[in-house]
Amino acid sequence: MKKAVAYLTPFLEAEKRSGTHQPAARVLLATVKGDVHDIGKNIVGVVLACNNIEVTDLGVMVPAERILKAARETHADVIGLSGLITPSLEEMAHVARELQREGVQVPLLIGGATTTRAHTAVKLAPLYAAPVVHVVDASRAPRAVASLVKPAERLAFVEANRAEQERLRAEHAQKSDSRTLLPIETARARRTPIDWSRYAAPRPEWTGARAVDSVPVAEIARFIDWSPFFVAWDLIGTYPRIFEHHERGARARELFDDAQRALEKIEREGLLTLRAAFGLFPAASVGDDVEVYADESRARVVATVRSLRQQAQLAAGRPNHALADFIAPRATNVRDYLGAFAVSSGFGVDALLRSYGASHDDYGAIMLQALADRLAEALAEQTHKWLRDAWAFGKSEDLSPADLIRERYRGIRPAPGYPACPDHSEKRTLFELLEVERRVDIRLTENFAMVPASSTCAWVFSHPDSTYFSVGRIGQDQLEDYARRKGWDLETARRWLAPLL
Ligand code: SAH
Repeated sequence: MKKAVAYLTPFLEAEKRSGTHQPAARVLLATVKGDVHDIGKNIVGVVLACNNIEVTDLGVMVPAERILKAARETHADVIGLSGLITPSLEEMAHVARELQREGVQVPLLIGGATTTRAHTAVKLAPLYAAPVVHVVDASRAPRAVASLVKPAERLAFVEANRAEQERLRAEHAQKSDSRTLLPIETARARRTPIDWSRYAAPRPEWTGARAVDSVPVAEIARFIDWSPFFVAWDLIGTYPRIFEHHERGARARELFDDAQRALEKIEREGLLTLRAAFGLFPAASVGDDVEVYADESRARVVATVRSLRQQAQLAAGRPNHALADFIAPRATNVRDYLGAFAVSSGFGVDALLRSYGASHDDYGAIMLQALADRLAEALAEQTHKWLRDAWAFGKSEDLSPADLIRERYRGIRPAPGYPACPDHSEKRTLFELLEVERRVDIRLTENFAMVPASSTCAWVFSHPDSTYFSVGRIGQDQLEDYARRKGWDLETARRWLAPLL
């Protein structure tokens, strides 16, 4: 994306005021209810504006009613919905149903990290009679909008989109038919084989929850993984090799240099506050759950972490993982521990974004959001290191920041909502265990997005055999069992675990 973009928008708005400007289309953008992430949406907004498209951006956590109302008021030609977390997929379905119910016929654009072509085809398009189009990245948005509004292109575009979605639905139906799942009891019998009889779990120097209120940016910046920074700007490549790319190299270098300057400014002026809550707790697994104890006596359970197990029929010798497998079972009497953290670098971002918005500095605003996201991940790296150090094995690791980014450390830090622990509601358990809201003021929305944006949280496992995996699809038997353990009715379970069904 060109930096000129930042200077273009005010011109467009000036022209509009003078009445000479006729937008090619009007687009309404919103991050759906319960979700807060909007850097992708903001980039789409700027890219559209540069293409003579009038954008009304409703911001984040926008309920369906407000989207409907604004669509009418702005005479939107296209509505763009964005979301980062999987519960947003259900919220998008809700918006589509509401649009249908109200007889709206405005095409929908779907974008954001968890959205896919397949999900759009299978779960969204059938709910709404108007076209529903998935856009993979910001650069595709102007083309899609143009094709949806230009009379000469519209028919062919909509038909091609419909045909592709028909094909994706057929593919999906066939896959679901042919993929047989193991009964949950069989999958449990194939749990990760760990020989606990020979295992001495590392004992941490301290247990309980702690918090750090303001971590200096200068200390954290060295842990930044820069490759995803470029992805945020639609520049795909690995840092630092990306600088040599024949086409993208120069732009990547310019962006990176600007990022260094912005980072220095954030540091110098104390623009962002970085906070971390983290802890280590005596723990034992009981089936697919992990019991977390108040103290070393292991008498009182203070939290129960639920895990979901892979039920796919895997190749011979490949176990069916659940995260609980990586904590010593209670019956073994091995004294094991579970770690957890929640971190944020998003404090201060909103106020700054408002001031950037007032001065039409879109580039500065997106840069700030991209850097805040990077700092949150870097702070997760640092916090994970503090936990490994407390576990002692971390102190002898001798890993450079680059080694840490390459995950050369012992253990894993699976994030609730990600493939190994796809139930976002488990963040509630993590937040209560660490008293995150009280200690560092990170909050959860009704759909378990963390507020402010640029926050992340994870469980921390120390066993050397612990590994990332994807739970994948689960059966009705596990769904019912999980609902029972969580104290949910089946409808609630279906809602939160929809992507796994
Ligand atoms: N260096 C990257 C780190 C973030 S992505 C960055 O700065 O963007 C990797 C993180 O995602 C992991 O540390 C873990 O917290 C989470 N993760 C990755 N795969 C996962 C899986 N299968 N299940 C759960 N969490 C996962």
